[in-house]
Amino acid sequence: MIDRYSRQTIFPGIGDEGQRRLGNSCVVIIGCGALGTIIATSLVRAGVGKVRIIDRDFIEYHNLQRQALFDEDDIKNQLPKAIAAERHLKRVNSSIEIQGIVADVNYTNIERFVRGADIILDGLDNFETRFLINDVSLKNKIPWVYGGAISSFGMTMTIIPHATPCFRCFIGSSTGRGIIQTCDTAGVISPIPFIIGSLQTAEAMKILVGAENINRELITIDVWKGTFHRFKISPRRSCPTCQGKYEFLEGKFGGRTTVLCGQNAVQVSNPKVERLSFKELAAHLKPVGEVSYNEFMLRFSADTHEMVIFPDGRAIVKNTTDDSLARGLYAKYIGT
Ligand SMILES: [Zn+2]
Repeated sequence: MIDRYSRQTIFPGIGDEGQRRLGNSCVVIIGCGALGTIIATSLVRAGVGKVRIIDRDFIEYHNLQRQALFDEDDIKNQLPKAIAAERHLKRVNSSIEIQGIVADVNYTNIERFVRGADIILDGLDNFETRFLINDVSLKNKIPWVYGGAISSFGMTMTIIPHATPCFRCFIGSSTGRGIIQTCDTAGVISPIPFIIGSLQTAEAMKILVGAENINRELITIDVWKGTFHRFKISPRRSCPTCQGKYEFLEGKFGGRTTVLCGQNAVQVSNPKVERLSFKELAAHLKPVGEVSYNEFMLRFSADTHEMVIFPDGRAIVKNTTDDSLARGLYAKYIGT
């Protein structure tokens, strides 16, 4: 198996010892969109021993423009991103452990998902979950690499718990709602998530092999303008997370609904549901609309509304950003 990695073990920064360390490592990638697919494919090919990929979403045609792991068959087969990623990557490297998990990462489950992780990689499109990663990272002393990309612009920063400033030191106390809203209109071109995801991967590899030159600054890039910058981020004295107050992890800011970035859709979760029976739900919905399902998700449409329902009771209600309307439709068709 060493031969598979010969081109990177020749590289002095990795070597045989670095390769061994990669093979003994566990990474958790949260979010498998444009950034997550680049990170996942690179780390799987690099021979990281355990790669856990968590994503809450399914694949649509507008994802294929930049989400490098997926293809048209995945859409036809109605595969969630985490499942499609796992299937494709297992064909790339069968000598490691790859696990795709379809779930919405929130304060009730994140500690379970990152158990045993040597590093957490951010492939997300929302700030709320990043604050949650930041909390779980500092609490459990697991490094994480932040990455974000929108339009032609992106940034990344590496957070080593209690050694570098944290994400909340950098962003402050806001949950970044202003920034979230711009995702819908700004669009994104593929080179920027490819670059940011690659920088995140390089940071992960450095941390996993024990390299000392970890990036301690915020890096920003605009591929359209051709600008590259580095900024020194200062630790913030008043940062609650650095003081051991894990407010996001305590569920202080969690809600039942989330407006999904750039999708004209709202996610409704239902903590009361452990596992839905699609067979029963389909029978119940058939008289009122169109239903199709496989083992991973159920699609339902009635009037102008369309929703995708997952076995954990979560639903993504499409064609709206109105969370009370989405909650209403959930109550009407699935129950409360
Ligand atoms: Zn901090």
